[in-house]
Amino acid sequence: MDRRKFLVSAGLAGSLFSVGGLSSCASSSKLYGDQNFYINKGIYRIPKLKLSKDRIIKETVGLRPFRPSGPRIEKEMLDKKTIVHNYGHGGSGWSLSWGTGHLARNLVMEGTDRDIALLGCGTVGIATATLLQESGCQVTIYTKDVPPNVTSNLATGTWSPASRVCDRDIATADFRSQWETACRYSFKRMQMMLGVQDIVEWGDEYRIHSSVPRNTDGNGGHAIYQIEGLAPEWKTLNKRDHPFNAEMVTRRSNMIFNIPGYLNFHLNNFLLRGGKLIIQEINSLEDIDALPQQTVVNCTGLGAKAIFNDEELRPISGQLACLVPQSEITYKLITQGAYFITRKDGIYLGGNGIDGSWDTTPDRSLSEKWVDTLSEVMREMEG
Ligand SMILES: Cc1cc2nc3c(=O)[nH]c(=O)nc-3n(C[C@H](O)[C@H](O)[C@H](O)COP(=O)(O)OP(=O)(O)OC[C@H]3O[C@@H](n4cnc5c(N)ncnc54)[C@H](O)[C@@H]3O)c2cc1C
Repeated sequence: MDRRKFLVSAGLAGSLFSVGGLSSCASSSKLYGDQNFYINKGIYRIPKLKLSKDRIIKETVGLRPFRPSGPRIEKEMLDKKTIVHNYGHGGSGWSLSWGTGHLARNLVMEGTDRDIALLGCGTVGIATATLLQESGCQVTIYTKDVPPNVTSNLATGTWSPASRVCDRDIATADFRSQWETACRYSFKRMQMMLGVQDIVEWGDEYRIHSSVPRNTDGNGGHAIYQIEGLAPEWKTLNKRDHPFNAEMVTRRSNMIFNIPGYLNFHLNNFLLRGGKLIIQEINSLEDIDALPQQTVVNCTGLGAKAIFNDEELRPISGQLACLVPQSEITYKLITQGAYFITRKDGIYLGGNGIDGSWDTTPDRSLSEKWVDTLSEVMREMEG
């Protein structure tokens, strides 16, 4: 049998039998248990993305609620009311929602009040409301909008707990430690959602470098902090182990949040457990004072700027272009100037952030540029 035929049949055998039974064969023929790969011509191939401008079915611009000193998780008194703040998560709100929700819950539980008003119904508000219920609180959400009309619906949806979470030069060591606690808590909680209606999944993520970066730790993407050993690390692949035409390719596994199903699932659970939801815009501190509850948790994201006059809080806008879903694509890819991620509801292209911009009008030419950039990567792929 020649080498190519052997590799092909070894690949088939690998998918039919357990790796354990073939372990000695596996080490000599490089059998991998990774279902995203199959062996052809001795290199590893992955399915290609279908890219064309007419496949763009939706474009959005969301505003990341950014605070240079980091999200505000603290208690303050407003006359006789206790306000617990939990807002300003930048590009990390999905990832940190359960962790900062847990910190906010601890602040609520320091008091004796268990009838809680919670402002906001994005990913942070829903996670915090759920945690408060789990601690025996009766929670009423007051919110201007519910999903899908919230910023949380306009996110990419990956585990990115340090993405635009603060300005490292301004945030304190105390914040770093608070971030780490939140990050660890969130990570653990997300693992409990695996297998629940696919709301959280793991997938491969490739980073394509056109030249070998000077700092080859494989990181970037605005990750300000890291916790070693918490999640799988980036690994540099050797040329035979990937199909891309690039100087350097790194890969890691990462979590994906299937945003519409995720928010729907948790909001339904909140209501099933007796939570109440009232559509109401809060325009001033007087509106908060008028709420019947004495303890109020503030998860209004960027909305907190006007209500609480937070001068630090500002938007970092981010555009996404959604392509027709392609269920065979299960990986994420990042290259210079563009990325795509696969979710149940579509393939999302993105890669920008405009500091201080309140403009939520999508720029078609940007979406088309991403299609062009990623088309080139796909064109040059082996296979
Ligand atoms: C393009 C883009 C990509 C992103 N990608 C990721 C990612 O991959 N991973 C990640 O972890 N994070 C990501 N983020 C960041 C994440 O989306 C945000 O940090 C997160 O959505 C913030 O959640 P939130 O619940 O605080 O805010 P929101 O979702 O904005 O929710 C705020 C809630 O408060 C309500 N509200 C606001 N003002 C008032 C008011 N005056 N009265 C009553 N109610 C009010 C709103 O109606 C809403 O219900 C991304 C963001 C963008 C824009």
